[in-house]
Amino acid sequence: MSLDDFDRYPLLFGPSPVHPLGRLSDHLGGARIWAKREDCNSPLAHGGNKTRKLEYLLPDALASGADTLVSIGGVQSNHTRQVAAVAARAGLRAVLVQESWVDWPDPVNDKVGNIQLSRIMGADVRLVRADFGIGFKDSWQQALDDVRAAGGTPYAIPAGASDHPLGGLGFARWAEEVRVQEEELGVFFDTIVVCSVTGSTQAGMIAGFAGQDRPRRVLGIDASARLAATRAQVEKIARDTARRVGLGRELRDDEITVLDGWAGERYGIPVRSTLDAILLAGRLEGMIVDPVYEGKSMAGLIDLVGGGDIPKDSEVLYVHLGGQPALNAYSGIVP
Ligand code: PLP
Repeated sequence: MSLDDFDRYPLLFGPSPVHPLGRLSDHLGGARIWAKREDCNSPLAHGGNKTRKLEYLLPDALASGADTLVSIGGVQSNHTRQVAAVAARAGLRAVLVQESWVDWPDPVNDKVGNIQLSRIMGADVRLVRADFGIGFKDSWQQALDDVRAAGGTPYAIPAGASDHPLGGLGFARWAEEVRVQEEELGVFFDTIVVCSVTGSTQAGMIAGFAGQDRPRRVLGIDASARLAATRAQVEKIARDTARRVGLGRELRDDEITVLDGWAGERYGIPVRSTLDAILLAGRLEGMIVDPVYEGKSMAGLIDLVGGGDIPKDSEVLYVHLGGQPALNAYSGIVP
């Protein structure tokens, strides 16, 4: 079995763009930094990392005869917005459970940004009071039961499309896309920096890169403030995906790295380093990162390059996974 044996429903423009971050590299005075832009990877509602994962879940949903995609996330979930877009594109319905994972005081938090886009795309959006958690939730089960009771056929997509047998495939394919782009650019990215929360983005990358000739480091930056849970989830999905794509060996522990230090106390709440990173990326590169995910991984990148943990002769690929729509729900963060 290899990755090519799995059905894929194309939802992206093609390979996502890769470009250098020259002013940020000069400013930090260390390694050369590049970005690969999953935030502009698709024509569907701003795209993002979930759109890439959903390329592999959608054929399975269609084959199952489903007429409704059912998924779950926080009120400002990027994932559910991408599920809404994919459902619209495929002519399916979407039921989205939006839980109050983040205690953030912005008055229009449940009206703007991602949730507004999901409503525009016709999703049935259900606001539910519940704490952050990426596991299976009662509210999600209830939504699945409701679809069945109304005579529909649901297809269940867990938070972040991660804890799903096909969740890691999108980013396993991404690893091959990087290899081809490296050949075109004449560069080798020895270090990848990526945000991790539900885990299948980083996990897919690890499984994909593990099948390539040259070793490289994939540094996950935890943004969930639950490092042990994030690492366990990345490890589980990476090992499972590696088996599924026929890697032919077990992954080593040292291939799975998730770092903490930039998540703050709670998922979804930006801290000083997040805000500094948002401003630095915006002011040096015109590149917008969000306060929940990419602002935290950018803060990690800044410290790891600036502090010399990533050596000066490194070529670093910062993976921008999307998420900008949520900025609308954090109107108070910019001074
Ligand atoms: N970055 C953005 C913008 C996201 O929406 C997510 C989703 O959770 C992540 C990073 C983390 O990716 P994953 O959940 O696959 O670990």
